[in-house]
Amino acid sequence: MSHDWTALNRDLREFLPRKSVVLKRQELLVYDCDGLTIDRHSPPMAVLPETTSDVVKVLACCYRHGIPFVARGSGTGLSGGALVEEEALLVVTSRMRKILAIDLENHTVTVQPGVINSWVTNAVAGDGFYYAPDPSSQVVCSIGGNVAENSGGVHCLKYGVTSNHVLGLEIVLPDGSLTTLGSQLAETSELDLRGAFIGSEGTLGIATAITLRLLRSPQNVTVLLADFLSMEAAGEAVCCVTAAGLMPAGMEIMDNFMINAVNDLFGVDEYPRDAAAVLLIEIDGQAAEVLAAADHASQICKNCGARNIRRADEDEERALLWKGRKSAFAAVGQISPTYFVQDGVVPRSTLPKVLSSIERLSLEHDLPVANVFHAGDGNLHPLILYKADISGIEKRVRDLGAAILRECLSVGGSITGEHGVGSDKRCYLDWMFEPDDLATMTLLRQAFDPDNRANPGKIFPTPKTCGESARRKIFLADENKSESKELDLF
Ligand SMILES: Cc1cc2nc3c(=O)[nH]c(=O)nc-3n(C[C@H](O)[C@H](O)[C@H](O)COP(=O)(O)OP(=O)(O)OC[C@H]3O[C@@H](n4cnc5c(N)ncnc54)[C@H](O)[C@@H]3O)c2cc1C
Repeated sequence: MSHDWTALNRDLREFLPRKSVVLKRQELLVYDCDGLTIDRHSPPMAVLPETTSDVVKVLACCYRHGIPFVARGSGTGLSGGALVEEEALLVVTSRMRKILAIDLENHTVTVQPGVINSWVTNAVAGDGFYYAPDPSSQVVCSIGGNVAENSGGVHCLKYGVTSNHVLGLEIVLPDGSLTTLGSQLAETSELDLRGAFIGSEGTLGIATAITLRLLRSPQNVTVLLADFLSMEAAGEAVCCVTAAGLMPAGMEIMDNFMINAVNDLFGVDEYPRDAAAVLLIEIDGQAAEVLAAADHASQICKNCGARNIRRADEDEERALLWKGRKSAFAAVGQISPTYFVQDGVVPRSTLPKVLSSIERLSLEHDLPVANVFHAGDGNLHPLILYKADISGIEKRVRDLGAAILRECLSVGGSITGEHGVGSDKRCYLDWMFEPDDLATMTLLRQAFDPDNRANPGKIFPTPKTCGESARRKIFLADENKSESKELDLF
């Protein structure tokens, strides 16, 4: 369907300055993909609102003209969530970067959606607080994007993912109306629509203010670096640490490819080059507790075959041990500028089995795979490296990605952990869910967005994106509950 962009532009310019409406093709190119660079498509128009009131007016204009919209934070998403595939207005929150209120007495902070994740901790660290969810992209990704993806991170093993740290949301619905979900309180009495919005990938509306929970900074922190001669042994150590009743703040694994990539990036051999895998374990809490847990975890790693265990108690040394892990994607980019990040979850106890299956699949598909992942959560991130100029390569890459996800499902896992479904995985959703499940989720979505104008085409398989087999019918009871009415969702 073609839309009246001229009329939309005219309406937008009534309340937005010229600099806030992007129309030039060259300027729009910057938005032609997110972190999933294999898929590209420039939006026809982008707007950069600064306030909630701007977003209300922008979405009201879209509603009036029947134009779909896509929200975008920093564009670091890895599943194509912020990609504009159809004719839709891109609403970029990068000018909504105010910290609106800090309430240390009640351990909360309220921010605009474009605020960068690490800025939250930076703003309160001096007072002994921090914001726990810490994606590896935390110095660039936005809180709005984190909410939409329900992002995880290194510390989410012990402290939980974004949904455990968002108390309240102010959102603008697709018809331009403003509402709030949740509140400033830890517990509320209503249906948890806040929870439904978190992880909805921009398909329910746009978050314009977010109240986050702050935690007290831990008294002591120690990081262990254990190196192993096989990936399976490192995976085994992760299972044994949790089976022993220890709950580290984070447990992350990097394979030999990654180890060498980050050592090369920094020109320093921070991790042993010949190790098949390194396991980083962060332990936090009271001094005595940290000491005992670190000794116990070290012993477990040794029992599982660790060659050496390095321990860092001081801030500077801890930062050095984490630096490589946090820069892993950048390091791979130096070796292979094009790579595809897969994101699957498996029960922790199956890590050794699934890691060896990934190795096998990599050989079978003749594509190198580098691994760096949130091992404690069983959240795998195999990076498939490829050369973009090989004919048919994209299909080969996607086939390997899909085979890895099938492997995750075969052990009771999931097709996504923290990067979302977006455009990338919507055609795999019915591997996990029955038609009834998909229909129920779609109904919830339609309660917020009856016309499917918020991030259209994302998450749910449709005939247009995944072929005719994706056509699902659902039946809604009519008001008298005597008859059924067929609702065609597409
Ligand atoms: C190097 C690297 C490391 C990463 N590490 C991690 C990691 O450890 N853990 C992790 O979970 N992810 C990680 N990611 C993925 C990514 O950073 C996260 O998904 C992040 O939350 C995306 O934030 P963003 O601001 O870039 O969002 P975008 O990419 O701009 O958007 C992501 C989705 O959110 C929607 N959205 C954005 N803003 C809003 C809003 N205000 N209201 C409603 N919807 C909105 C968009 O429509 C889109 O669907 C990593 C990415 C990279 C490139």
